[in-house]
Amino acid sequence: RVLVGTKVDENHANWATAYNMLTGIRVSVSRTNAKLDRSLTDEDFEAKQKSTFDIAGNELVPSAKYDFKFKDYAPWVFRHLRALFRLDPADYLMSLTGKYILSELGSPGKSGSFFYFSRDYKYIIKTIHHGEHKFMRKILKDYYNHVIDNPNTLLSQFYGLHRVKMPYGKKIHFVVMNNLFPPHKDIHTTFDLKGSTIGRDYREEDLEKNPRATLKDLNWLRRKRRLELGLQKRQLFLQQLQSDVKLLQKLKIMDYSLLIGVHDLQKGNGENLRDKTLQVFNPGGAAQTEGGPDPNQVLMRTPSKLESARKARELRQMVKAERPVPMRQTTDRMPDELAEGHSRGGVFYNDDGGLRATHEDNTPGEEVYYLGVIDCLTHYGMIKKLEHFWKGLSSDRTQISALPPEEYGDRFLKFMSGITVSPEEAAREQNDRVAA
Ligand code: ATP
Ligand code: CA
Ligand code: CA
Repeated sequence: RVLVGTKVDENHANWATAYNMLTGIRVSVSRTNAKLDRSLTDEDFEAKQKSTFDIAGNELVPSAKYDFKFKDYAPWVFRHLRALFRLDPADYLMSLTGKYILSELGSPGKSGSFFYFSRDYKYIIKTIHHGEHKFMRKILKDYYNHVIDNPNTLLSQFYGLHRVKMPYGKKIHFVVMNNLFPPHKDIHTTFDLKGSTIGRDYREEDLEKNPRATLKDLNWLRRKRRLELGLQKRQLFLQQLQSDVKLLQKLKIMDYSLLIGVHDLQKGNGENLRDKTLQVFNPGGAAQTEGGPDPNQVLMRTPSKLESARKARELRQMVKAERPVPMRQTTDRMPDELAEGHSRGGVFYNDDGGLRATHEDNTPGEEVYYLGVIDCLTHYGMIKKLEHFWKGLSSDRTQISALPPEEYGDRFLKFMSGITVSPEEAAREQNDRVAA
């Protein structure tokens, strides 16, 4: 399978930043991983670990290509989160830093955040604003406890929170999180749903140019789309969503969405190359070229099993050379009280990393859904401020319509409940209405 993005190599404008991000992650995460596991304390949630990199290096920090400072926030909390999310510590570092390849998605949203994929497409690095960063640290304990209580949570899985700073450069905050979409499956249609209809439309005319664009609520409704989950999975899904939204409401978060990638089993994988270049994960619908690959878009191949194994060996050796304790000696495992009954990977990511469509009569459907709640670091207060700012600039307020978190969450849940009604049930309801 061929993946596409803008490869960040040494000629790329953001190469040094990407290099520093990865070097910082490699060194600080392996430092934490090398220690014997222990339980978390309250201080762990506030902790930050600073490293200063330079060309010379010292006994604590290996030499690097550039001078920069790196901060690892709450390293022990994230080590435990990664274990809860069932990541293998060596694989995690290998995926991200085994080879210094990222592909950059530029800035798909309005927020100005940059997105980078790990080479194997499993992880996403998203740069975040200082406000989001501060907010994330504030809610970290609530998030952590929620993950413990909700092994099947649909919220973004956060694996690390970091900052890089280059001399005379800006501070860049970023998170590492799960890519909801699978490396091994084509996603044929993508929706980003908020439960709102105001401005939530991707211009259908542009779809021809950009068939893999991320569609929105109105496109969903126009297509009379449904998430077919069958009765049982629907109930599980809505229950989990309720619990997740309850947390978001409590934390006064809004503006999040349910991201849905649909894999059509009939179409399967392996369409022609041109199609593949268009299947770029291209959420904001940034300009795509017609008639073949854009020269800026470097095709990237998913590594074979053999390559991956070789890289894993290399990385372990690298880590060994740097650290007195080899990484494999770490005891990253779930706390005993959680190991039982904790089925991460979980109900919603069970069918080939996704959720197989199910008809009301429990027969399997023709699609696999890859879904989760994303962009969940926007505090109501931040939006309010933004809105104020926009109000001062123009009269067009429809772009940002701040709905208080309670209402936002209720509207979101109502919409998701609506789109998971089975076609049969919808027909019955329709009949009842006609009869009445
Ligand atoms: P805005 O605030 O303007 O919505 P943003 O920069 O905060 O933008 P997000 O909403 O987090 O960006 O994400 C933008 C797009 O990136 C999403 O619509 C989705 O297509 C893609 N995306 C984000 N997070 C993930 C993820 N975890 N897995 C897969 N795709 C993702
Ligand atoms: Ca968003
Ligand atoms: Ca956002």
